Amino acid sequence: MENSMKLISVVVPCYNEFDNLQNVYDRVTAVFENFPYQLELLLVDDGSADKSREKYDELVALDERVRVVLMSRNFSGPEPILFAGLKTAKGDAVVLLDADLQDPPELIRDFAKKWEEGYSVVYGVRSKREGSLVRRIGYTCFYRIIRYLSFVDFPVDAGHFSLLDRRVVDIIASLSEKDVFVRGLRAWVGFKQIGVEYNRPDREFGETTFSFFRYVRTAKDAIVNFSYKPLEYVSSIAIGSATLTAIAGFFYLYIAFTKDAPRGFFTLLMAILILGTLQLVALGVIAEYLIRIFREVKARPPYVIDKILEKKKGDRE
Ligand code: UDP
Ligand code: MG
Repeated sequence: MENSMKLISVVVPCYNEFDNLQNVYDRVTAVFENFPYQLELLLVDDGSADKSREKYDELVALDERVRVVLMSRNFSGPEPILFAGLKTAKGDAVVLLDADLQDPPELIRDFAKKWEEGYSVVYGVRSKREGSLVRRIGYTCFYRIIRYLSFVDFPVDAGHFSLLDRRVVDIIASLSEKDVFVRGLRAWVGFKQIGVEYNRPDREFGETTFSFFRYVRTAKDAIVNFSYKPLEYVSSIAIGSATLTAIAGFFYLYIAFTKDAPRGFFTLLMAILILGTLQLVALGVIAEYLIRIFREVKARPPYVIDKILEKKKGDRE
């Protein structure tokens, strides 16, 4: 009974992934052989500038399970692109998978098993990671810092590779939030969630599309959207520095009246420097929130879809 089988959508954000597309198609479709679920392979293209489009046309013509969403330009994915995928996918469950196949599609079978056991979110946990030392240290620190700072329960070392039940997908897709950080929203939604461990190898084809500064931006997005602690720290620092300033004020007043005029050039310099720095830090943190409030208030959609390529049922070439 083909049609009574549940549908799983596999959403893949793609930016200049021409070299990986055939591989993605082969590995994902192989997972769905002898697997009691129907597949929708939803490739969400983030304005690629390479030959990806040719491949999309080829795959769509070849297999009606493939749908491709083309963005009108590059929207600096993957976050807005995954969000577009969640909104467009039709499945009873949606799997989020990167095009570079650093996350093994074969794990989808384990995800589905947990889903059937009643978990609404099943996410991959990277127990071992390959790739450069700096990146590994960066990732390790990131997940621990965000976990410490956040008011939602972020699982450590879980990327966006995961399976989300339709209920979770609908909730995330219905949010009016523009600064989407899917891992955060996924944790925020709640319900029964569980992790599945796996090893994460380095990218096989192509270079990571992420520069150092984009990682930093992603980390800032995650922290500011899912933690109020930076703002709270600023007010604590302000209280602390105000107290110290008051104490120093009395101290120097006392010196001024009881001793010769202080030589305190160094003290003065330090005071100016420290306070100046504190003010800048405080302004910086406030600016981080302000930028995002501004973005939310504008209510601009996080992406624009150009067109959807799909083979209509019954099409014959
Ligand atoms: N990606 C995207 N838009 C971009 C950059 C990346 O949709 O502007 C996609 C990319 O094709 C990949 C995923 O996001 O499927 C993760 O990118 P990448 O592997 O470069 O990041 P990393 O794994 O190094 O964090
Ligand atoms: Mg990658």
